[in-house]
Amino acid sequence: MRCPVCRNSILGPITLLDGLPARQCPNCQGVSISSNVYLTWKKTLGREFPPKEGAIEIDPSWEVKELKLCPDCGHIMARYKIFPDTSFYIDRCRNCNGIWLDHNEWDVLIDRNLHDNLNEFFVRPWQDNLRAAETRNHLEQIYLEKLGADDYENVRKVRAWLKDHPMRGMLLAFLEADDPYRI
Ligand SMILES: [Zn+2]
Ligand SMILES: [Zn+2]
Repeated sequence: MRCPVCRNSILGPITLLDGLPARQCPNCQGVSISSNVYLTWKKTLGREFPPKEGAIEIDPSWEVKELKLCPDCGHIMARYKIFPDTSFYIDRCRNCNGIWLDHNEWDVLIDRNLHDNLNEFFVRPWQDNLRAAETRNHLEQIYLEKLGADDYENVRKVRAWLKDHPMRGMLLAFLEADDPYRI
């Protein structure tokens, strides 16, 4: 079984965690995890690790961009972004669901207690939340840039004040009217 990054290196067996065997490339340190093995391990866990902040900064230079072929079945692997606005991608085979982690990626997942969430990264809720977070960050950037920090802060306060205000309609009309003292 060859490394999908180095091509010529042969993956060797390792144990990622108790009861979680995988295969690792001796050259680039990338790790291949079989979907069935992972899910079996996850079932034995008995508890969820609550996600946490983590201390490891994601370094964009870790990212291996080239297309990878699944070491198990040879299909082209799909890249899934895992965190908003980062170049942290995990490769996954859509044919056999095998997962490839580049060097450092497993450490980042452990650091954030996400190593028991691997199977959630590739489905709708995770990917939808990720896209929503990126949109939010993007719009926030635009507001900040166009409005400036002070006005943006002010308008956010006004918005929060208006949100559930019982006289919201009248307040909005008052604000928008050319002259609120004329009918
Ligand atoms: Zn390799
Ligand atoms: Zn595969």
